Amino acid sequence: MKPRAHSYLSEIETYVPGKSKAGDKKVIKLSSNENALRSSPKAIEAYKNHASEVFRYADGSCSNLREALAKKNNIDANRIVCGAGSDEIISFLTAAFAGEGDEVIYSEHGFLMYPISTKSVGATPVKVKEKNLKADFAAIIKAITPKTKIIFIANPNNPTGSYLNKDELGELIAKTPKNILIALDHAYEEFVEEKDYPNGIELVNKNENVVMLRTFSKIYGLASLRIGWCYSSSEIAEILNKVRGPFNVGGPAQFAAIAALEDEEFLQKSRAHNSKWLKEISARLKGNKKITAHPSAGNFILLDFHSRENCDKANAALLEQGIIIRDMKAYGLENCLRATIGTQEENLQLLNVLENGF
Ligand code: PMP
Repeated sequence: MKPRAHSYLSEIETYVPGKSKAGDKKVIKLSSNENALRSSPKAIEAYKNHASEVFRYADGSCSNLREALAKKNNIDANRIVCGAGSDEIISFLTAAFAGEGDEVIYSEHGFLMYPISTKSVGATPVKVKEKNLKADFAAIIKAITPKTKIIFIANPNNPTGSYLNKDELGELIAKTPKNILIALDHAYEEFVEEKDYPNGIELVNKNENVVMLRTFSKIYGLASLRIGWCYSSSEIAEILNKVRGPFNVGGPAQFAAIAALEDEEFLQKSRAHNSKWLKEISARLKGNKKITAHPSAGNFILLDFHSRENCDKANAALLEQGIIIRDMKAYGLENCLRATIGTQEENLQLLNVLENGF
């Protein structure tokens, strides 16, 4: 006799994070889409300034952080719920809106936490084929059944870097029945420069079944502190607060996030650095016969090596130099690796191996 967990949990393939070690070598870690410029110095200072308070429980409702987010985005703080990363928000949504017998839709190469969280509540993930590595909104609409409870859309998507524009997302929302929750995961929003990128806040304001997820792990450079947030209708926010643990975001993390939000200079620098290197890396790899670099609206690039053999060779050559990028096999992209934009020096070393080293 032993305690038995839900049998449906055996279906879950545990999430494997990006590696951070390559033997004893000094590592260049470009495997988890973190900010190339690290963190805002103001955020680090705020974190340190509040270190001595860790014996106390933090403000469980993140009220100051939610007020700061509300002010910055001109929205109602009561409609914001914070999580230990947006990963936790994804799990709040599946816990609150899906269960055994229900279906949750996501796109073919969508972020892996969607099927994982779906399976963790006993619901069935429904993977919808993409067109040219981009979510196919018409196919998503066709995949809706009476059992569908949630549609997750990462926009832009990790790892493909593609995004649905205003018209495409607008059509998806318009054609989705109002009893289905549409979760727009805007983890990389702050990096996006494309003019036809949808405004998540407006979409939530106009549609009660739409929620938007954001994170401090990417451009705000606070991945280790685990802070994400969700903007939704007040009714949905109230539900998410019921499934949320009472002290799910640490105190110093909340202060660091507020300082990061206010550090506009760091944000601008991060955006400019990312924009420059996305263009530079894509331009340098254009015409390279061994690699196709897919366009990206995020802070990473999906690299297709045209065969698993070449992909393995490239990965081995990179690891030999201590450069860790992410294998995309788990995403069904057998021939691909995903590289996060790094510092200038890191990007040049990456390019050196990609251009000359395998
Ligand atoms: N959504 C997407 C699309 C992501 O790529 C990630 C991080 N890899 C997350 C959500 C989760 O980020 P976090 O939990 O750190 O906020």
